[in-house]
Formats: sequence, structure tokens, C-alpha cells
Amino acid sequence: MKLSQILYSQGFGTRRVCAGMVYSDLVQHNGRVLEDPDEDLPTAGLVLTVEGKPWPFHEKALVLLNKPAGYECSQKPKHHPSVMTLLPAPLRNRGVQPIGRLDEDTTGLLLLTEDGSLIHKLTSPKHHVPKVYEVGCKHPIDDDQVARLLAGVVLEDDPVPVRAAACERVTEHHLRLTLTEGKYHQVKRMLAAVSNRVETLHRSEFGHLTIPADLAPGQWCWVNGWQPPA
Ligand code: URA
Repeated sequence: MKLSQILYSQGFGTRRVCAGMVYSDLVQHNGRVLEDPDEDLPTAGLVLTVEGKPWPFHEKALVLLNKPAGYECSQKPKHHPSVMTLLPAPLRNRGVQPIGRLDEDTTGLLLLTEDGSLIHKLTSPKHHVPKVYEVGCKHPIDDDQVARLLAGVVLEDDPVPVRAAACERVTEHHLRLTLTEGKYHQVKRMLAAVSNRVETLHRSEFGHLTIPADLAPGQWCWVNGWQPPA
């Protein structure tokens, strides 16, 4: 693929802007400054250096953000900045969107992609992708609450009970809850249904992906070679 087309596909701007980046010596490959926007490069395994930073070629971007509290997942945030502000401009330009939502005060693993079919697949209730939440509860968690969360609780807007796929009391006030659906405020509403209350909420896993140990809150990384559940 031509270099200017590669940069364009990765979200760096219009063809003209991308050609300008090349003429300004901002793009390198294997330590060589690339000077011709029409140079053909193989895209498989390609890692460019753009303005001094590595940029691996991805046909469709899939990234993992360690979401801090105080950011909204909505495209049109009302009270807090959008999680999109934590991503670099090329990813925003590519139309990357969150796969499902975390509340403004929820922290942890958020996936974002530009791949609409992946978003559909991972948010569809048919696919039962497990998500693990670390829940800090206001009141001590008892055996009865754990049993009810596993058996299924009815939320106010739907007569069909929702249940946790797994539920483990880690400490008196810390519950580890695995859900395979993604209803609005589901964890908070499930805990309210068993007369408890969520004080802190952190998503630690999504379909067996976890947050890399060195990824601080507010940072993101590429997800490579992940096979989403079928
Ligand atoms: N359940 C909630 O209540 N909030 C979240 O952010 C995620 C799951």
C-alpha cells in the first residue's frame, strides 16, 4: 500500500496532510526517514515511527483503555470529559467507539474499536461474553445475597430475572461478580435488588482479557491477536 494511503487509513488526516507529514520528515521505518508518499510498503507487521513514536499498522483498531473515574463513555458527554479524550487523535479520527459502556464513576477495562461488527457481536446479549467486576459494597455481603445474585434478581424495568454467572465474596465488603449481559447500571441495580449498595466499581476482565500490569489509569494499549468469543 502507498505510504500516504497507509497514514490516511490509520487516521493521521487527509491524503494531503499525510503527504505533508512525509515531506516534513515525520515518518520513519526501521530507522530510515521515508521521503516519498507514493512509496509502496507491505502492511503485514508494519510498524512506522510517526513523530518519534511507534505506530503499528492495524486494519481495524482495537484498543484497551484503563478507564479512570470521572470520564463518560458517551459520544456526547454531559458532565465529564469523554473517554475519547484519553486517546490520540488518529484513533479518534478513525471513529473508534467504546464496546459497551462503563458509568462515569466506574474504573477499569474498556475496549474500543472502529469495527462495527465487533461492537455488535460483543454487546449482543446472544454472545454471553463474560465480564468480571470488582465491587466494593457499602454493607457486609452475606451468603443470602450471594445466593440471590446467583439465582437471579428482578430489576424494575424487566420481569425476566438477571443472574450472575459467578459471584465470589472476596472480603466482607468486596464482591467479584461475573456477568454475561450488559444492561444499564446492571451491577448497581443488582446489588440494590439484594438490599446492598455499590460504593466502588472496577471492571477487571472482559472476555478473559485483563488490564496489563503496567497500564496506569488513563493509559491505553493495542489489543493484538485476541480471538473474541465465537
Ligand atoms: N454495571 C454498572 O452498574 N455500572 C457499570 O459501569 C458497569 C456495569
